[in-house]
Amino acid sequence: MNSGKVYLIGAGPGDPGLLTVKGRDCLALADVVIYDYLANPVLLGYARPETEQIYVGKSRGQHSVPQEEINQLLVDKAGAGLQVARLKGGDPYVFGRGGEEAAFLRQHQIPFEVVPGVTAGFAAAAYAGIPLTHRDTTTSLALLTGHERPERKLSSLDWQKLATGLGTLIFYMGMSNLKMICEQLIKHGRAADTPVAVIQWATLPRQRTLTAPLNKIAEQVAAAGMEPPAVIIIGEVVRYREELRWYDNLPLFGKRFLITRPRAQAATFVALLQAQGAETICIPTIEIATPEDWTPCDQSLARLGGYHGVILTSANGVEAFFGRMKHLGLDLRALAGVKIIAVGPKTAKEIEKYGLSPDLVPQNFRAEGVVEELLAAGVDGKRFLYPRTAIARELIPDSLTAAGAEVDAPIIYRTIATLEKRDMIRHLLESGELDAICFSSSSTFDNLQAMFGDELKTLQGGTKFFSIGPLTSGTIRKHGFEVALEPEQSTLDDLVGAMVDYYKEP
Ligand code: SAH
Repeated sequence: MNSGKVYLIGAGPGDPGLLTVKGRDCLALADVVIYDYLANPVLLGYARPETEQIYVGKSRGQHSVPQEEINQLLVDKAGAGLQVARLKGGDPYVFGRGGEEAAFLRQHQIPFEVVPGVTAGFAAAAYAGIPLTHRDTTTSLALLTGHERPERKLSSLDWQKLATGLGTLIFYMGMSNLKMICEQLIKHGRAADTPVAVIQWATLPRQRTLTAPLNKIAEQVAAAGMEPPAVIIIGEVVRYREELRWYDNLPLFGKRFLITRPRAQAATFVALLQAQGAETICIPTIEIATPEDWTPCDQSLARLGGYHGVILTSANGVEAFFGRMKHLGLDLRALAGVKIIAVGPKTAKEIEKYGLSPDLVPQNFRAEGVVEELLAAGVDGKRFLYPRTAIARELIPDSLTAAGAEVDAPIIYRTIATLEKRDMIRHLLESGELDAICFSSSSTFDNLQAMFGDELKTLQGGTKFFSIGPLTSGTIRKHGFEVALEPEQSTLDDLVGAMVDYYKEP
């Protein structure tokens, strides 16, 4: 039986939060995701890791995959029995050729569903502070394309009716014809001083908005070098923007920060920064790799039941530990009677994901804290397993051994720098478009320093270094760099608060 199906999903305008709940659910069940240029790739994170991802948008200097090929791809994948998420920017049925894709599927008897999305015009209006209709001024609204099939040359628009018969006009794909659009509207009776807003990259931190009267906007957009994707909103309602704007005057709007960790690990920090309007770029300086030699680790795991306790110090360590147990065919029962010691609340949380609750989570979650509490409980003659990274401090094994314990400390994962990421970070620093790099721990600085060595000095240019607290600042200064900002309390909340103050106008 063929049970394949296509979901035509509106990805929304850019801000990942504007995807619908239904769209997210469909992504989660998909076997294949076929996505466009304007669908935010961050949304692919809702798909399962094994889901195939096919990009059919345009890429640098190249055209997008022809529509006929996309249609055929949808039929082929669903025809093979797969669940296909067709992710399109904005709403699939607004200037997105979604209708053509649906018709082709119908023709080939492929079942489909359409999941609407927030269309760019509506989103741009909301994020620019422009109510599209207003009881006092405007009671109608039209969505238009400024770029029709070449042979039609916009001739199918009835300029006379558009210019005088409608309130707000939203043009999609109108940037290259902006001058002509404005001229036609004025020629057919629209007031030359009608306010216009051009909104580029709406709902994203790089959103840019320019407003001017109908007879001036084309010139100003050209002078500002504004390019697609942008929507053009024409009408009296644009005047409300000055009073109602809220997004592009958030405290950190227009600022761009680098966080040198994977997005998944920086999620809270990213959310806090984005709530203040900032653009965040997450590039990890290190990646997790397996040990060069598994033997010591496997030998320890083979006699797991003989340990008094296992000391786990990081989320990565937890994942590697349980992953290796599974690989060796050991299930949780192999840990029966073994105490689980978790260093730090994050590590504890990760352990709980595996259905185990740690026996000890030291109050002070630095290595010193663990040692202190274990010594207080007495370790003499007890045997501990301390699976660790290749660069871990020796404090835990040394102190426990000194107190009469036996400690096995096999390497369970390594962190390695990747060349590709180094090039990305170098490029960002050289472009001079980064306002600051945010360091949320000493290791985030150490890893960056290790990545570039002495070159970091020259690369830094005008990019500021922000630090979460005294330990991290100490590490940064030790290497001869200046710390531009450190909050009073070492929490992410306080760091973001300090950043907001830092950029406040004097
Ligand atoms: N189906 C989409 C529109 C696709 S046509 C939707 O409903 O939004 C592509 C056009 O959409 C672009 O040329 C631009 O006019 C507009 N657009 C899409 N995303 C945008 C964004 N984030 N900011 C401004 N305009 C955008």
